[in-house]
Amino acid sequence: MTGKVIVVGAGIIGATAALRLAEAGWDVAICDGNAPGSEAGASYGNGGWISPASIIPMSMPGLWRKVPGFLLDRNGPLTIDWRSLPQLTPWLLRFLWAGASKTRVRRTAKLLSFLLHDGPERHLELARKTGQEQLVLQKGLLYAYPDRASFEAEALSWELRRENGVAYAEWNETEIRRRLPALGPAYRFAIHVVNGAHCRDTGGYVAGIVDAARRKGVQFHQSAVTAILDGVTPQAVLESGETLSADRIVVAAGIHSGRLLRPLGVRIPMQSERGYHVTVTSGQTPFEIPVMPSTGRMANTPTDMGLRLSGQVELATVDKPPNWERAQVLQRHALASYPYLSTDKTPRLRLWMGHRPSTPDGLPVIGPLSRHPSLIAAFGHGHVGIAAAPKTADLVLDALENRISGEARPFLPSRFRQ
Ligand SMILES: Cc1cc2nc3c(=O)[nH]c(=O)nc-3n(C[C@H](O)[C@H](O)[C@H](O)COP(=O)(O)OP(=O)(O)OC[C@H]3O[C@@H](n4cnc5c(N)ncnc54)[C@H](O)[C@@H]3O)c2cc1C
Repeated sequence: MTGKVIVVGAGIIGATAALRLAEAGWDVAICDGNAPGSEAGASYGNGGWISPASIIPMSMPGLWRKVPGFLLDRNGPLTIDWRSLPQLTPWLLRFLWAGASKTRVRRTAKLLSFLLHDGPERHLELARKTGQEQLVLQKGLLYAYPDRASFEAEALSWELRRENGVAYAEWNETEIRRRLPALGPAYRFAIHVVNGAHCRDTGGYVAGIVDAARRKGVQFHQSAVTAILDGVTPQAVLESGETLSADRIVVAAGIHSGRLLRPLGVRIPMQSERGYHVTVTSGQTPFEIPVMPSTGRMANTPTDMGLRLSGQVELATVDKPPNWERAQVLQRHALASYPYLSTDKTPRLRLWMGHRPSTPDGLPVIGPLSRHPSLIAAFGHGHVGIAAAPKTADLVLDALENRISGEARPFLPSRFRQ
């Protein structure tokens, strides 16, 4: 079965889906108000980690006890803007509930593993077929700790990873100094997730995927969709004044997807977990394996632009201006983690803020909308949109062709009451 499909949004999810659908013979148009991979999307400035270990939800047992601290702590990895609390509270309660027991997080980890376990291999293949082999490298990913005790304090996370087949090797202090001398002496124990991969320029990668899709006949319209209409045939009304019709519409507009669907009576709970990056564009990055130091909880990734420090979770409404103090927290942690950075007295830095499109249950929303089966959701990937994109593209194709496997059902939008 094939036909005409419009993909709304040219971030990693929309771009990868558009290419996959075109390969399967669909006649694809993709619309975005911005250029593919532009700074406006979360896909531009993320950590670029393609980790089979990213299956641990943010909401874990006991998190609720820490919430008052998050409202006050200026240096922690998670903050909540208290002025946004009235809008955030319903989402926040569901978020905390999703992580309230070991059974719940075990289920979430297993479902995320279905999307992520072979993410590195899928991305290597995607990079190859879009002519971007130089952007996706499989050198493993390093989770660094001050000592073994701090690693053991995260026992549940690593237990879940082991249960889901994540392969890793322990590095002792000697191994760390030998293989990653740039990492400071405060880190004496590390876990190397051996088949983890990373992307050296996620914005460029997305643009390259859209270019490859265009070579396969996909039409790109640089215009935002102002409305989605669901009649005899679904239609997308573009800001340019044009109206496009198709057999199906895939909604992959990241954090803005909810706003586009609301006029149709579709209410998917989604909030922005805002994140930041600082890219040190001056000097060389003297290591090739991305690192996540446990103390700063940030992804430190060697990129084509320099060392990218990305992280922070700031729960605040989408329209709030960026709070650049969050980026300074990342920078402070980096200075403490990599002594070589302090030798550069006038570093050149680029700062960025983006919106992780996050559902309260920590799972993306993929599949047809119950009351609008011609509209396919492909959003809500939170912290793992890059890693999960190729598998998501396959699930979008299955949804378009009315094949929903048992394993794909937990991601359906119908899990949220409309
Ligand atoms: C700091 C940070 C670090 C992260 N690190 C990682 C990581 O290491 N690994 C990982 O896997 N994930 C990571 N993520 C998460 C990842 O970036 C996201 O899950 C992913 O980029 C979401 O992709 P998307 O395509 O759904 O959304 P986006 O990339 O936001 O794309 C949505 C697109 O839709 C367009 N759009 C919006 N409204 C409209 C409209 N009305 N009409 C047409 N187009 C529209 C936008 O312009 C945009 O291009 C991180 C996120 C952040 C913020």
